[in-house]
Amino acid sequence: MQLAKRAKNISSSPTLTIDAQAKKMIADGIKVINFGAGEPDFDTPDNIKQAAIKAINSGMTKYTPVAGTEALRQVIVDKLARDNDLEYKPGQIVVSAGAKHSLYNAFQVLCQAGDEVILPAPYWVSYMEQVKLAGAAPIVVAARVENGFKITGHDLEAAITPRTRAIVINSPSNPTGAVYTRDELAALGEVLEKHGVTIISDEIYEKLIYDGLEHVSIACLSPALKEQTIVINGVSKTYAMTGWRIGYAAAPAKVAKAMADLQSHSTSNPTSIAQAATVEAIQGDQSAVITMVGEFVKRRDYMVDRLNAMPGVQCNRPGGAFYVFPDIKGLFGKKYNGTEIKNASDLAAIMLEQAHVATVPGVAFGDDTCFRLSYATSMANIQDGLNRIEKLLGDLS
Ligand SMILES: *Cc1c(COP(=O)(O)O)cnc(C)c1O
Repeated sequence: MQLAKRAKNISSSPTLTIDAQAKKMIADGIKVINFGAGEPDFDTPDNIKQAAIKAINSGMTKYTPVAGTEALRQVIVDKLARDNDLEYKPGQIVVSAGAKHSLYNAFQVLCQAGDEVILPAPYWVSYMEQVKLAGAAPIVVAARVENGFKITGHDLEAAITPRTRAIVINSPSNPTGAVYTRDELAALGEVLEKHGVTIISDEIYEKLIYDGLEHVSIACLSPALKEQTIVINGVSKTYAMTGWRIGYAAAPAKVAKAMADLQSHSTSNPTSIAQAATVEAIQGDQSAVITMVGEFVKRRDYMVDRLNAMPGVQCNRPGGAFYVFPDIKGLFGKKYNGTEIKNASDLAAIMLEQAHVATVPGVAFGDDTCFRLSYATSMANIQDGLNRIEKLLGDLS
């Protein structure tokens, strides 16, 4: 059977592939330390689960409006005003089956063949494939480790052409954890406003932010920028709700309508029960988030300190999300049992096979001098995994 060109060009998500490989080794009885996970290790808070159970028992089991229930869209409007200084109407909110789905809808309604979409690298894997699926060309702009993995207005201006349609900004970032400051966003915003480039602002890690840093949505910096921006957010990461599949977009009314119309012919509304749980997640008790953030900080600090103590490894202390992204250029040319390490993929393969530690090589994110370790796993696992990595690096010659 013949596949369409569109399908042949998609690669499977490399983060999920490594996760699957690690899970297979675990199933074979091997004790693998999995730093590949892209989801919190915590359970969904109980108040959120109870809201879902209540929704089932009260018969909230039918179709809802395509873009989400009135109640949920109002809660999102209130949240955007409260947390992000952004005024929207419920008709500008589209709730989808995860932020990934919101992003997909956005690229589909905004981009077509001939368009260019700027992706600051390291970038989250799905942006690349979603841009291509929309027929557009991804234009990768490398952010340097020396600049905390953030691009500058200058880097951005150099990449803009008459074909530039959109840019993706992801702060806090997956995979680097980098957080843009208000001033850094203002510098990018100035360039984007001047050239009328649409901004897709993926703010899924908004609440997982440390050291007193402030999350700023680029959309709030000026009325013009708000008109140019689609804000993407969701509950997967903040509330440990990855399985519930709820994300949302806030956009100019015309764009929101197009996204909802597209969704009306693909998935229709996201799960009614998960929507009810999301109302509780966003407007209910937030203490579980504070507890999770406290845990994440401890793990991050431990991980960064241990990695930086290993010769050849250089690791920034990221301000958000739950990943570290150490640079291992210093190990290139070294050998393990005669196998030379030429890039982070080589090291990641050796780590999985020899030390049974799963990580994600940076090539998946457009930078093969680094690899990603998630600290969304227990402190005991983190200690064990870092001991293994340290031992393996000590065996390099
Ligand atoms: C996890 C993640 C998402 C998508 O999360 P959903 O579970 O689809 O809501 C989007 N963007 C980034 C950067 C992520 O890491």
